[in-house]
Amino acid sequence: MPTSTAHIVEREKQHRLPGGQSMTDLAGIVVDRALNAEVWDKDGKRYLDFFTGVGVCNIGHSHPRFLADVNDQLGSFAVGTFYTDVRSRYYELLSSRLPERLGRIHMFSTGSEAVEAAVKLARAATGKHEIVSFWGGFHGKTQGALSLHGGPRKHRSGPFPPGSHQVPYAYCYRCPLQLEHPTCDHHCVGFAEQSIENGSVGDIAAIIVEPVQGTNGNIIPPRGYLRALRQLADRHGALLILDEVITGFGRTGSLFAFEQDPETAPDVVVLGKAMASGLPASAIVSRADLVEGTPFGAPSAAASTFGGNPLASAAALSTLRILLDEELPERSRRLGESVSRRLASWVEEFPFVGNAGNVGLMVGVELVEPGSKRPLPKDVTRGIFRELMARGVLAMAYDSRIRIYPPLSIPEHHLEEGLDAFEATFRAMSDSITRP
Ligand code: PMP
Repeated sequence: MPTSTAHIVEREKQHRLPGGQSMTDLAGIVVDRALNAEVWDKDGKRYLDFFTGVGVCNIGHSHPRFLADVNDQLGSFAVGTFYTDVRSRYYELLSSRLPERLGRIHMFSTGSEAVEAAVKLARAATGKHEIVSFWGGFHGKTQGALSLHGGPRKHRSGPFPPGSHQVPYAYCYRCPLQLEHPTCDHHCVGFAEQSIENGSVGDIAAIIVEPVQGTNGNIIPPRGYLRALRQLADRHGALLILDEVITGFGRTGSLFAFEQDPETAPDVVVLGKAMASGLPASAIVSRADLVEGTPFGAPSAAASTFGGNPLASAAALSTLRILLDEELPERSRRLGESVSRRLASWVEEFPFVGNAGNVGLMVGVELVEPGSKRPLPKDVTRGIFRELMARGVLAMAYDSRIRIYPPLSIPEHHLEEGLDAFEATFRAMSDSITRP
């Protein structure tokens, strides 16, 4: 007799620790199989996947070429850090797609681990120790990465390593300085500079920033912001580390988000999530002249057990080839244009859609109490999440900042179908939200 969903969930719950991804329990489904943008649960219900494990599956689920490449590697060799043909090819291909100055790559297993390595590299390269990060920024949950977070997720987790400074991000819908873009002339950068000058000990090794703040709700800064941070870093002799763990590999309509403003010119870029389409792989890419500093560059100092192992390398190589051959970054940009039109109509139609924006297929929708900027309460947003699931869409729609990450390979009719489901959900709930 097939095992029921309830039985499987119960079996796992009996043994697991708390603190897992909230999406798991909110959705409560047992996934059976998936193909491109579609997912089926154990009970045979079909969903469109606008979640993709938080933007991990840019090439779509179960891509046949990806399955074949990973299976091939699994069948031959999967363990250890020896030189492999597959990793050398990956480094070569990735390098060919990066600016020449970002000539060095090292692989790890998770985004947090790569962030930790980027900080270590910055400290070794500059001989300085302080790191500037941003309100609302998120870089992972290991202790060093968490110290860079600008928000309540780190509450009661200290003490953290000293030398971490958080400054306001260019979150224009809720400008922390109560200014308006563009007349503000990026005053938040000037404010950050004052904070650094008054709050640091003058020993800034790096500024680390997400080109679009993912965990904070897919918050898109205005054009020119990253370039202004580049200049800020230069004025302080600090490196600019871009955390492209979510924005990388085509999500924002170019292979990497920083390409959209070449003057951003990062010194180090952190990669993860979609890099290997589900197999644990992350990386830092760095300016070649920065990597020899010790302790970072000492033998074994940057190594980890699984970093760059043959299976992860095969998955990463296959993913990148598919992204490039199928022109998925370009597709993300193109589909993103039609998403933008939809979002604009939502802001028009629904008084509780306070703000909505996207870069490529990285989409954020902010729900507020009509006539205000107060976030919609959780009991309401949980209702939206459930309605959406009933209509067959999985998305991070369980709190007031909705985050949408479909595969970049999603067929257009599935994208439309999913956005229609959002619209139908908003319409169905409109009365109860506007006249509670
Ligand atoms: N950086 C960013 C921008 C992230 O969004 C995340 C994860 N959400 C991380 C780093 C950490 O990645 P991981 O969960 O793989 O450790």
